[in-house]
Amino acid sequence: MKIGCHLSASGGYLAMGQTAVSIGANVFQFFTRNPRGGAAKPLDKGDVAAFLDFAAANGIGPILAHAPYTLNAAGAEPRVREFAEEVMADDLDRLEHTPGAMYNFHPGSHVGQGAEEGINLISGMLVRILGRWRDAHGGKLPSTTILLETMSGKGSEVGKDFAEIRAIIDRTESSLLPVPLVGVCLDTCHVWDGGYDIVNDLDGVLAEFDRIVGLDRLKAIHLNDSMNVLGAHKDRHEKIGKGKIGLDALMRVVNHPKLKDLPFYLETPCDLQGYRDEIALIKKMRSAS
Ligand code: FE
Ligand code: FE
Ligand code: ZN
Repeated sequence: MKIGCHLSASGGYLAMGQTAVSIGANVFQFFTRNPRGGAAKPLDKGDVAAFLDFAAANGIGPILAHAPYTLNAAGAEPRVREFAEEVMADDLDRLEHTPGAMYNFHPGSHVGQGAEEGINLISGMLVRILGRWRDAHGGKLPSTTILLETMSGKGSEVGKDFAEIRAIIDRTESSLLPVPLVGVCLDTCHVWDGGYDIVNDLDGVLAEFDRIVGLDRLKAIHLNDSMNVLGAHKDRHEKIGKGKIGLDALMRVVNHPKLKDLPFYLETPCDLQGYRDEIALIKKMRSAS
């Protein structure tokens, strides 16, 4: 199975690959830059080359790059939206050095403008970035798969239900090439906090996802327990089995025939030893079923 966790990017790509192997992971997630935003470190081409060799030799991937939290394509201030666009375009350029990566971002918060306007702003940004990319690369698209993350609906978050995710996809793709441009990363804590009962009705939630978004769009799972109850719209991650979702329900996610071949990325409040233990637990529960 493809299982890993969020890792610090401070030591570079090769260090992340080595850390992943040391805790039993074969995938990992990392921030492309400081999660609060700011300039990315210059790309170390030697480190990238060493990582690509190491990843090939150790069966690591796909790696999941996470955009900074401050990126808000749906912001009210033009400067906020421009920052989001600049960061995402720059991240996609950098990710071409690690072909086949995935890039996950929080769609944004509409900050009182309404979800409809938020959806327009987010899809507008994607259309401009991908359109410029296509023009600059002879009609080709990035090798990176862009993923919209399902959100909990905290504050004015866009992407709090499957219909909003679908609307962003539709408005992005109708303006560009008639090929799938955007995928989805489903965060178990976020959908639970968003009101989708993956504990008592995982099949029903997945059927709804399939009907509205399409399971073929689902490219990654953020595997987290939640500190809060169903529909709390809070977004506080908990360690696996220690929260309101619980171990049994999370194991049904990991073992579900429609999900089991996807890469799973833990974002639980753990240190490395904690992640090593959670990965071992999940692998054990996986092989047991
Ligand atoms: Fe996230
Ligand atoms: Fe997440
Ligand atoms: Zn979260």
